[in-house]
Amino acid sequence: MPLRSPLYSQRSLILTLIALLGAGFLATSFLSYHASRTSIRDSIVNTELPLTSDTVYSEIQKDLVRPILISSMMSRDTFMRDWVVNGERDPTPMTRYLNEVMTHYGAYTAFFISDASLTYYHAKGVLKQVKVTEPRDAWYFRVRDMKDPYEINVDPDLANKDNLTVFINYKVYDYNNRFIGAAGVGLTVDAVIKLIDKYQQHYQRSVYFVDTFGRVVLTGAEGGPQGARVGQSLSEIDSMKNLVSQLPKPHSGSYEYSGAGQGHFLNVRFIPELNWYLFVDKLEDGDLGDIRRSLYLNLLICLIVTLIVLALLNRALKRYQDKIQAQATLDSLTELPNRRGFDLLAAQAMQEAQREPKPLTALLLDLDHFKVLNDTYGHLAGDQVLIGFARDLESCLRQSDIVCRWGGEEFIVLLKDTDGESGLMIAEKIRQHVAHQRYAYNGSSLHVTVSIGLTTLRVDDTLHTLLSRADHAMYRAKQSGRNRTCSEMPQSVYG
Ligand code: GH3
Ligand code: MG
Ligand code: MG
Repeated sequence: MPLRSPLYSQRSLILTLIALLGAGFLATSFLSYHASRTSIRDSIVNTELPLTSDTVYSEIQKDLVRPILISSMMSRDTFMRDWVVNGERDPTPMTRYLNEVMTHYGAYTAFFISDASLTYYHAKGVLKQVKVTEPRDAWYFRVRDMKDPYEINVDPDLANKDNLTVFINYKVYDYNNRFIGAAGVGLTVDAVIKLIDKYQQHYQRSVYFVDTFGRVVLTGAEGGPQGARVGQSLSEIDSMKNLVSQLPKPHSGSYEYSGAGQGHFLNVRFIPELNWYLFVDKLEDGDLGDIRRSLYLNLLICLIVTLIVLALLNRALKRYQDKIQAQATLDSLTELPNRRGFDLLAAQAMQEAQREPKPLTALLLDLDHFKVLNDTYGHLAGDQVLIGFARDLESCLRQSDIVCRWGGEEFIVLLKDTDGESGLMIAEKIRQHVAHQRYAYNGSSLHVTVSIGLTTLRVDDTLHTLLSRADHAMYRAKQSGRNRTCSEMPQSVYG
């Protein structure tokens, strides 16, 4: 069964970690984005927009309450009622009276329409006679016939040169409770418009009024949604088309809709006094844009952290792997390459030598009577001698030569770029050096000799054929008395 390579398992570990970290980071980022989005959305829908609606509504009421009071006082005014009952003889006192009311209360206009003469009096004199046939005068006949004591009428364009005016039309009765006319004042809704402007500019909320037919009736100075003008229907406005398809007639409530590529939150409230709907609209971007930006920043940070973690992990794994690899190819006692390490180095050295071609000499070294040394001084002493021998062996070689502990007390040396003659000199140098060496162990001075088998590389050699020649040579060295070097040359007469 093929084993998974370490590289494969390292890659799959890193991929698993990327997947885990990525999934974890993505999940937390998106969850927190979703949570903040929901809470912002809730606060817009449940708090911000209804609060704006409340404020605008209470401002409207303030604007309306004062003129209602003034008109109520006018309808009970004894001077006015006496003057009418007495036959409306001279219009001057009435005009003066209306002018006084208008200027004193800062009203846009003050008026009285007599039911007996159908004369329209206002602050500057007699305006006209009202007629049943005249559509503009329809309001008077409506007031005359209604049950309520007064009505609020919003006239957007007629008398006020485009200034939207709220008229309070109060019924006036004589002392016998007979209807004698209608009196009241007209006020502009400047305060409401200013408030709308403030909300539009400071809080990026669009505030406007819509009548029951879905037409815009009151906006701030900059107009309604997408600059819509008074009189325009919501269905004519691009951004509102979507909403109008869901909500053909305005209804009170909270809505979310998208128009012209942007999401909107909307609060609609019916204002019974005006028979209008108050729309407070907010674009989804703005606040949500901020948390979207923080989501992107979060994701970027997560990406950077993931990359840093992976880079650190990769480095640690690589170090660990290098260490394991080094350990796997080194002999732990002598720290010389072991068989596995030697195989790699030898294969490369032989290939180079055979390709060039260059001479290469192999030495197989075996310590003499090592078993006796072990038996006499103990295994630890033997270990100490093996370590010392390894260092001595290295000291006799060049950096480029390959040395290995073949196993037990046997060592192999490959002398690069070295022919048999030079190899023999080096082998002898080693043998003599070892023969003169003493190794200290526990107060004892240990001595060992080495038998060496030598051979040189042939072009058609494998590592096996090379080493078996060296082994033969070493065997002969043992046979012929130990502590010597024997050669077995491929085609030579050495030995
Ligand atoms: P010869 O001269 O014929 O080589 O005799 P020898 O005793 O060296 O040969 P033999 O192969 O009979 O014995 C090798 C000994 O080396 C036996 C074994 O216990 C010992 N040996 C092998 N590896 C180690 C080691 O790592 N440490 C120690 N202390 N001894 C070892
Ligand atoms: Mg041996
Ligand atoms: Mg031996």
